[in-house]
Parts: sequence; C-alpha cells; structure tokens
Amino acid sequence: MAKYLKRGRDAALRAEDATKVRNTVEGILSDIEARGDEAVRELSVKFDHWDRDDYRLTAAEIRECMSQLSARDLDDIGYAQEQVRNFAQHQRAAMRDLEVETQPGVVLGHKNIPVSSVGCYVPGGKYPLLASAHMSVITAKVAGVPRVVTCAPPYHGKPAPAIVAAQHLAGADEIYCFGGVQAIGAMAIGTKSIAPVDMLVGPGNAFVAEAKRQLFGRVGIDLFAGPTETLVIADDSVDGEICATDLLGQAEHGPNSPAILLTTSEKLARSTMAEIERLLTVLPTADIAAKSWADYGEVIVCDTLEEMVREADRIASEHVQVMTRDPDYFLQHMTNYGALFLGPRTNVAYGDKVIGTNHTLPTMKSARYTGGLWVGKFLKTCTYQRVLTDEASARVGEYCSRLCMLEGFVGHAEQANIRVRRYGKKPIPY
Ligand code: NAD
Repeated sequence: MAKYLKRGRDAALRAEDATKVRNTVEGILSDIEARGDEAVRELSVKFDHWDRDDYRLTAAEIRECMSQLSARDLDDIGYAQEQVRNFAQHQRAAMRDLEVETQPGVVLGHKNIPVSSVGCYVPGGKYPLLASAHMSVITAKVAGVPRVVTCAPPYHGKPAPAIVAAQHLAGADEIYCFGGVQAIGAMAIGTKSIAPVDMLVGPGNAFVAEAKRQLFGRVGIDLFAGPTETLVIADDSVDGEICATDLLGQAEHGPNSPAILLTTSEKLARSTMAEIERLLTVLPTADIAAKSWADYGEVIVCDTLEEMVREADRIASEHVQVMTRDPDYFLQHMTNYGALFLGPRTNVAYGDKVIGTNHTLPTMKSARYTGGLWVGKFLKTCTYQRVLTDEASARVGEYCSRLCMLEGFVGHAEQANIRVRRYGKKPIPY
C-alpha cells in the first residue's frame, strides 16, 4: 500500500483558499460589468500599480520593447516559436474535415471552423512568462483564428519587453498590458476600449483560473490552467539530486504549486528529501519554492509499478516526469495527466519553454477529462448532413416519425411525416 513520507496541507485548508479566491473574483467581475474601463483602471492601480487610460500597446511601444532585447534573446524566442508552430501545424494537419455516406443516399460530415476571436492571457505577476505567448497566440493563429487579442500584466511597473516581443512575433493582432481578473474580465465582457472576445485561453494564477471558470458559458475557455503542478515518478535508476531538481524547478512557480514524488524506492525518496533541503539553501527562488514544498509537497512510496499508475491517475497532475527503467510503461497505462515527460533526458522545463509541445495544461485534477491547449481547442467541429434521394428521405423518415411519437413529440413527427408522404409516397408510419 502507498506510504506517505511527506504529506501536503490538509484538503480543508485548500478549500478555504479556494473560497477566498472565488469571492474576490466574483466581486471584481461584477465591478467590471457595472463600471467597465473605470473599474479596470482602479484594479490595475490596486494590484499592479499601473495607471493609464488605454491599456492597448501602440506600435511604437511594441518597437521600443523589441529594441530592448538582444539579438540572442530574439533568436532564442524565434527558435522556441518555430518549435511550437511546427508541432501545432502537424496537429492541425491531423484534424481533417470529414464527409461520409453512412447509408445509401445519406451523407454526414463535419467541418473544423476556427473561433472568430480569442483572448490569450500571458501570466506575468512573479515572472515574465513569455513562453505562454508562444503557446496561446501561435496555436490560435495556426488554427486560423482571425482576431487574436493578448495581454499580460506589467512587470516591475511596465510592459515586460520579452513578453511583448513574444506576443508580437507570435502574430497577435492586439496587445494589452493589464493582468489578473481585470484583464480576463475586460476581454470577456468588453469595455469601451476593448471589444469582447469569444473565448479565453492561457494559464495564470488561482485568480486568473477562477475568473475564467466564472466566465465560462458567456465565453468559451480552454481549460483550468491554474497554479502549476508536477509529479515525478522515479525508481532507483535515478538519483535524489535529479528528482529534487525537477521537483523544485516547478515548485518555484508560486507558493501553491504542488510537487509530488512517487517512487518504488524508499532510499530514493529519502535522498530526494535531503537534496531538496540542500537545494533550498542555494536556489535563488527558494523563498517561493520552500513555501510551496512545505505546504503542497508530497513524497509517496509504492510497492509496485501498477500501484504507481493508480496513484498517478488519482493525482491527475498537470506535468508527469517519468524516470524509471521503462518509462513507456507509464505511457501505455496512465490515463490522467496533462503532459508526460518520458525518461531523464527530457524534463518539464523543456516542455514549458522550448521543445514544441504546449505548456498550457490542465490543473486541479481537470486532467481527468481534458488534455492541454492545442489547435483543436480553437476549432469548432460542426456537423452537417444531406439526404440525396427520395428513397433515403422516406426510409429515415419512417424511423424518425415513430421515434418522435415514442417521445410524444408530435411536431417533430410531422417534420418526418411530410417527407415520408412527399418523397416516399407512403402514409404516415404509425
Ligand atoms: P498572473 O499573471 O497569473 O497573475 C498576476 C495578477 O494576479 C496580477 O496582475 C493581479 O492583478 C492579480 N492578483 C494578484 N494578487 C491578487 C489578489 N490578492 N486579488 C486579486 N487579484 C490578484 O501571474 P502569477 O501570479 O505570477 O501567476 C502565474 C501562474 O501561472 C502561476 O501560478 C503558475 O504556476 C501558473 N502557470 C500555469 C500553467 C499551466 O499550464 N497550468 C503554465 C504556466 C504558468
């Protein structure tokens, strides 16, 4: 049976955090609904010390941001964007429209139609997370979205040059500098200075994720991409240093980012815990990572691979790094995860920043029912049908008519009956 060497905070405490966030977000969204730009401005001042009339960046401001980056920075961003675009294009090519004759004279099909306008949130409170611009904006553009709006909060009091460059190079149509719930609310609800979008995507902190959740229905959302989570699955083929590095590398995202080790080796578990304590004395971002590890970190020892799969599927983590003798075993058997990183040669940072898979991934156990952001999320798969012959219309109509009557839908049945009479030259079939 799975044995815990370290547990995270009590579930009741996490629920209490969630209630506070829910109430804050509700208040902010109704304020934006009532007062539009005025509320957005006050909230930007309050949370980000950022005050201006118009949050849309001008072409001159974008050029100014670009000019602050070195040729190497721009080249690195270009490399990452090429990888993301390339994989997204392959995924797009795999999403074919379909048309098929399912029975004589009956043609059914579907078309993949891009959403008309999308708002891409790029997080930037603690770190200028420029990679999120590639993940959302490029993917939306590859899907064919005509209007791609993007925003990020100011970083240290002004637009973050690297984020703005990434947003621009990714092909965004409108770039805004505001963040948090006010940005999500303005993009979804619309104000005098920003036309509303049809769908919101992109990761963010608990406030951002909750704002998207509350606005779902009014606009589409991609998924719940909240505070980062990581799960390392390892056996004694690796050492504590690499496990500790991979756990803290993700715990540094924020004070509420769960990092969990699942292993069949108690020796590895103990050496990983010791390594974490050592690394926390030298990691420059240790203040955040240490809090996250203390409150949300877990170490679980299992007896078998099967038990590790069961535990991993229960945890349903956003990222799963597998470092065992046979990583493909987990690819074959696991069903609940945002993204898998197979073997010690790759890792979550590669996926987060550069390798080409999307880093906007499901959190809070939503990996039980969705994967991460990808071109398919921006496409509406809409069906259509055609009936080519009189005979096919009458044949389907007879079944339809009787099934409608079983449900008591007389008006529906009449839609079928008129066709049975006209095209089949038959009486009504009940
Ligand atoms: P952020 O841009 O998500 O949030 C910053 C904003 O939060 C600020 O602009 C402010 O308006 C708002 N805010 C801060 N405190 C507030 C409060 N008390 N009340 C209301 N609003 C408040 O940036 P961040 O905070 O650095 O968080 C980034 C998050 O994105 C991290 O949690 C990280 O783990 C997550 N992330 C998730 C994924 C994923 O795919 N799931 C990927 C990358 C990053």
